[in-house]
Amino acid sequence: MQSFTCQNCGATVEAKFCGQCGQKKQERITLGQVGDDVYSGLIDFESPFLKTLYFLTVNPSKVYVEYLDGARKRYFSPVRYSIWIMTLMIAIAAMTDTVIVDLSQLESNAPELETQLARFQAIINSLLIPLYFASACLTAGFLRFVFRNEKYTFAELFYPALLNISHFCLVYCIAILLGVFQNAWSQLLLTVLSVVYMCWGLTGIFRPVSGKKYLKSFIAIVLGLAVYMLAFAFLSFSIGYFSLL
Ligand SMILES: [Zn+2]
Repeated sequence: MQSFTCQNCGATVEAKFCGQCGQKKQERITLGQVGDDVYSGLIDFESPFLKTLYFLTVNPSKVYVEYLDGARKRYFSPVRYSIWIMTLMIAIAAMTDTVIVDLSQLESNAPELETQLARFQAIINSLLIPLYFASACLTAGFLRFVFRNEKYTFAELFYPALLNISHFCLVYCIAILLGVFQNAWSQLLLTVLSVVYMCWGLTGIFRPVSGKKYLKSFIAIVLGLAVYMLAFAFLSFSIGYFSLL
């Protein structure tokens, strides 16, 4: 085989794949190749994206454990997966005029406060993706704390936490499409369901699972949510306080 320069990293390559970066020797892009890419990326059930989507629904801990233990190519990258699902949710919310984080039920008599809260709400809703990442950090931190004798580190636990939180956004998508997302009872039901999904999926990482482990992860999850909510309450309160000075 004739040697060539890798188009991705510039290394000299004498095989079909670059030994430095792993890229295959590339030819000019043809329509057929675009078709193949779309098919293998989205439609082919063996594609990492659909595989990740399917298994996160029926057996989330299988995805987490296999990914953490090194079967990474089999699944879609957790960060990309999360950004895709969250972007889908944000798009559906925008198309249906749904506010994902709704602070309008916070009663207030002062008009300046209302304006500030509306501004705060707009900021929060435009920062949903980084906020979900922050929430995954909190969950991973508390999981690491309650399971500190297990082998997984904080950095490793971040990926299951992120995949868990973002995959559940698909349930939010369904609720938004059904027009029940902003209803107080469905908000409560969605919160309970998300805690159940988190407990079920995240406890499964620490095998063999036991009642005690479910309890420990429940505590970690609730602590993560509580800190997250407190941070929100504190920010809303500070905005209220400073706007009334
Ligand atoms: Zn290369």
